[in-house]
Amino acid sequence: ADFNSLSLSRPVLKGLSDLGYVKPSPIQSATIPIALLGKDIIAGAVTGSGKTAAFMIPIIERLLYKPAKIASTRVIVLTPTRELAIQISDVGRNLGKYVNGLTFGLAVGGLNLRQQEQSLKSRPDIVIATPGRFIDHIRNSASFNVDSVEILVLDEADRMLEEGFHDELSEIMSLLPSQRQTLLFSATMNSRIKQLVSLSLKRPVRVMI
Ligand code: AMP
Repeated sequence: ADFNSLSLSRPVLKGLSDLGYVKPSPIQSATIPIALLGKDIIAGAVTGSGKTAAFMIPIIERLLYKPAKIASTRVIVLTPTRELAIQISDVGRNLGKYVNGLTFGLAVGGLNLRQQEQSLKSRPDIVIATPGRFIDHIRNSASFNVDSVEILVLDEADRMLEEGFHDELSEIMSLLPSQRQTLLFSATMNSRIKQLVSLSLKRPVRVMI
């Protein structure tokens, strides 16, 4: 099967075609239809599996179904490192290249905090963040509002826990609207991941490739 069988929109299919993606990878075939239904997902997926597009494609589609009336941040992607955040943002921008008005923001350590605050004030649709810096933004910046977040992605959840981000993740989870879709990706599934799952996901569908 190719991407045409996943009933994606024309702009997303065009973005995929520019990237040279023809056939969905196994993790993409398994997660995209479930994510499009709005369900929570726990996916066992390593780097190189195509997991970035596995969450970015349904995210962009869901934003397209229901355009926002005013600029608001509707998606947060949490990932362990700045490098990963930049890669995710690049994939997202490429996939969303033909979607009018789709905006991305970064909230990561190592980049200027004030500059990031300025760019978050414009309320980008999709904010890609590392947990520590994201907390700094929600604690210190009255301008950054998370009330309109509809989708949360926890990318490389096991690595975020290994890096010591448990408390930050719990705090973020408690501040985001509880009515949301959560997509969790992790290479391993240990008891700490299960604890995070019970804290953050509702009746998740498990996808193991
Ligand atoms: P990721 O696991 O998201 O880091 O992706 C690993 C690599 O696979 C990246 O270089 C992607 O550009 C590439 N990739 C992801 N999905 C596809 C696809 N469906 N077809 C071809 N390449 C892909």
